[in-house]
Amino acid sequence: MGQKLVAVVDPELCRGCHVCVRSCPLRIIAIKDRLAVLTGACVGCGKCIGYCPFKARRLVEAGPVAGGSVEQPSD
Ligand code: SF4
Ligand code: SF4
Repeated sequence: MGQKLVAVVDPELCRGCHVCVRSCPLRIIAIKDRLAVLTGACVGCGKCIGYCPFKARRLVEAGPVAGGSVEQPSD
């Protein structure tokens, strides 16, 4: 419980239809090369999930990787 959630897109299912773009209250979804991508920090509200007609979107727990682990510079 209490895990941060973020929306992810299945590239196999996404058709770039723009429906989710309009559904996001934060307006952080854009279409790039017919694929929905995030342009900002998703708060995991889930609004976009139910709108996708192709069931391409889902919420996942934001782990260390999704949270943006950063490689340490070597020098
Ligand atoms: S609503 Fe679904 S299929 Fe349409 S662009 Fe968004 S993720 Fe892709
Ligand atoms: S879960 Fe909410 S904030 Fe994240 S992309 Fe979907 S609508 Fe936007």
